[in-house]
Amino acid sequence: MATQEGKLWMNGTMIEQPDAKVHVLTHSMHYGIAVFEGVRAYQTADNRTAIFRLKEHTERLLGSAKIFQMDVPFDAATLEQAHKDVVKQNNLAEAYIRPLIWFGAEKLGLSSRDNSVNAMVAAWHWGAYLGEEGIKKGIRVKTSSYTHHLPNVTMCKAKASSNYPVSIMANQEVTRNGYDEAILMDPQGYVCQGAGENLFLVKDGVLHTPDLAGGALDGITRRTIVQFAEDLGIKVIERRITRDEFYLADEIFMTGTAAEVTPIREYDDRTIGNGGRGPLTEKLQTLYFDVVHGRNEKYMDWLSFID
Ligand code: PMP
Repeated sequence: MATQEGKLWMNGTMIEQPDAKVHVLTHSMHYGIAVFEGVRAYQTADNRTAIFRLKEHTERLLGSAKIFQMDVPFDAATLEQAHKDVVKQNNLAEAYIRPLIWFGAEKLGLSSRDNSVNAMVAAWHWGAYLGEEGIKKGIRVKTSSYTHHLPNVTMCKAKASSNYPVSIMANQEVTRNGYDEAILMDPQGYVCQGAGENLFLVKDGVLHTPDLAGGALDGITRRTIVQFAEDLGIKVIERRITRDEFYLADEIFMTGTAAEVTPIREYDDRTIGNGGRGPLTEKLQTLYFDVVHGRNEKYMDWLSFID
């Protein structure tokens, strides 16, 4: 299913996508304040469909709205049900789900106080974001010339539309030159995150990931990997990390709802480790896919079944 087919949920009702229209004077379209999520539903071992960590995604969504003082007229339970309904009504066994909250078109001054707050949830089929081959063999990434946001200029805890131009420019810059994804440095010159992913490195059996003070998104897949590592007795250190530490890592991988767990085989034209998917990356990736597909009893609480 393409992005422009089927039904979506908008402001409380399920409608056909061509009817899901907004006015061109929509406040969010002019000034960029809209908040969203990327969520995935997977087919489970017993042939059902479950949304992965829906509660955490909805909590982050409503948290993003709070940061921008968007008074959302729908509670978490309503939004969560909308996610389930949109997957079900479009007959999707697996799906990428995109909720969005935005300011309406009632008024176009900078202040958004008198604008309505609107919400929609759409879903479509979306395979491996960085390619099936990337998942198995690893991808090639490159540091972008664009610097990641400065906290206090951008609200980095929010997953907001206005945070994405730098990610898009970085991604376009490096993919035009044949790389698979961009890495952004934080304003102090430390590694921050991928254009749409968090980053991990493995060195001597220990996991290291950039701390969130550098402005990286508090990724739900990142939290998942940290939890797995803790449960497996693998040490995780969150700290400032330089790009040359990444060059010298045994393994590097990126995480995200769309990107899932994708190994990095080359960074800034340097081969990482053995030049493929490293053993700890493979272990965590396998566990991730087992968990999202409901093949691991221990993490069943993270699955919201749609029926
Ligand atoms: N950083 C950015 C900029 C992202 O867009 C995403 C994807 N939402 C992530 C990190 C990973 O976050 P998550 O694991 O919650 O999808």
